[in-house]
Amino acid sequence: MNTKILRDLFIGFIRIHILFHANQESVFGSALMIELARHGYNVGPGTLYPILHGLEKDGLLLSKTRVVNGKRRRCYEITGYGKDLLDKARQQAKELIEEIDEENRNVNEKEY
Ligand SMILES: [Zn+2]
Repeated sequence: MNTKILRDLFIGFIRIHILFHANQESVFGSALMIELARHGYNVGPGTLYPILHGLEKDGLLLSKTRVVNGKRRRCYEITGYGKDLLDKARQQAKELIEEIDEENRNVNEKEY
C-alpha cells in the first residue's frame, strides 16, 4: 500500500496514540516507534519527529532534555491543553467506532 496515503489517513490516530502514552508517562522517540509498530504503524524517525515537534508547537506536549546512561534524550510530557484534547479525541473515537463498526451496525439494523 502507498505509504503516503496510509500516513495521511492514520496521522491523527498516531497523534492521539502519542498523546495517550504521554498522558501515562513521559515519552521519547525510539520507545514510541516501537510502541507504534506494535499497533501496526510503521513510523520512522523522519515521520515521528516532525509529529512530536508539531504537537509541541501546538502546545499539546512539552519537551525536556534528560541525560539517560550518559546520553541526552528528549522526553515529551503532555500539557493541560493536551489532556483536554485527549479527552475530546477519546469521545470522538468512540463516536467514530460506533459509526463504522460493521458488526454493531448489523445488530442495530436488525432491531428495526
Ligand atoms: Zn499504545
